[in-house]
Amino acid sequence: MVRTLANAVSAGRVAHAYLFCGPRGTGKTTTAKVLAKAVNCTRRQGAEPCGECPSCVSITAGTSMDVLEIDAASNRGVDEVRELREKVKFRPAAGDFKVYIVDEVHMLTNEAFNALLKTLEEPPGHVIFVLATTEPHKLPLTITSRCQRFDFRRITRKDLVMRLEEVAEQSGLTAESGVFALIARVADGSLRDALGILDQAAALGEDRISLADLHSILGTVTDDVLERLVRRLLSGETGPALVLLQEVEAAGKELRIFARELTDYLRGLLHAAYGAGQAAVGPPESDRERLIDLLALFARAEQEMRFATRQILPLELAVVGSARRRGAAAEAGAGASSRADGTPDLEQVWGEVLAEFRRRNPPVGPWLARSEPILAGPRKLQLKFRDELAKEKVALPENKGILEKVLNRFYPGRWQITCVLDGDYGEP
Ligand SMILES: [Zn+2]
Repeated sequence: MVRTLANAVSAGRVAHAYLFCGPRGTGKTTTAKVLAKAVNCTRRQGAEPCGECPSCVSITAGTSMDVLEIDAASNRGVDEVRELREKVKFRPAAGDFKVYIVDEVHMLTNEAFNALLKTLEEPPGHVIFVLATTEPHKLPLTITSRCQRFDFRRITRKDLVMRLEEVAEQSGLTAESGVFALIARVADGSLRDALGILDQAAALGEDRISLADLHSILGTVTDDVLERLVRRLLSGETGPALVLLQEVEAAGKELRIFARELTDYLRGLLHAAYGAGQAAVGPPESDRERLIDLLALFARAEQEMRFATRQILPLELAVVGSARRRGAAAEAGAGASSRADGTPDLEQVWGEVLAEFRRRNPPVGPWLARSEPILAGPRKLQLKFRDELAKEKVALPENKGILEKVLNRFYPGRWQITCVLDGDYGEP
């Protein structure tokens, strides 16, 4: 428990309304329940509930009549809060306090807020409100001003790994390299989750925790599976990508953890692509746009899985969605027609080529625009320039490379691009 809160409990100076703010998984509701146990525990030691008395046991089991949890995300209506107002009057059934835990309190409607406010204004002595929220800025001041606020912070992965190392050392556990990092990744800032996982791993009774054991405990997959899936997605192998997903599901893996691992993996690739990652070599530049697409699709899938009845569905839709986007992009490029003899109709698409080139390489765009494109063969492009400087700029290998990529969107294949100076151009 937070120190200030623990002190208040030991001193018997508990407030009537608390506001617990912080990201998901940082222990807001857990702390609220510990508080509920502490104030009702008959055998409390200092601020710590005993965990064994009838009150503690029933709160842990979720059967206590004195602890009422309201999930505002699903109970947005006034009715619930009105009902709460009615019930608030009655004395606690067993303990000294009735504790109302309102999770995601910012989701309440205005009417519900007003009803809640009425109760907060004159709370009966036996009632404690714990309002938990991930978005405190969405709460009206009339509410926040009546609560004692506590901020819960996510622990960084680095700190989590350090804590895990400490705890493991104290318990005489060793682990294969990468084990703690994986636990920290899955625990996502929650120390409680991280330690819980370590406990499970220790329960296996091995001297050394292996990555393989950890994957089977966590229901996670090895990086190799993620890599295979992403490779299939990048190369447009939609069918095989769907099959791989089914295999992951059939292996009994936790799909929500899998989704988080996947977005994490994609994010790592994207960072590497822009030189912000730890990997020395990032994915090729040509994959960047696709990676951005994939990350957006799977991040949304991860969100949607929270409400999905079949966990695999949002993932499958993301895979199919990526195939559709890929198709749409190809079609946009394939809009370019060819002449009867099969050679590209460059005149028709040159404006679009210029626009796309300018988008990818703004400084050089104007120089390219000053050239005259001449098709010297099916995939042979000659660019005629009237001034030396423009020719030199465009002729740089990296700029020709970008131009080839742009051309590839319209007419795939290996392009040969030459830049020439047209001496006669300026003559009358
Ligand atoms: Zn107890």
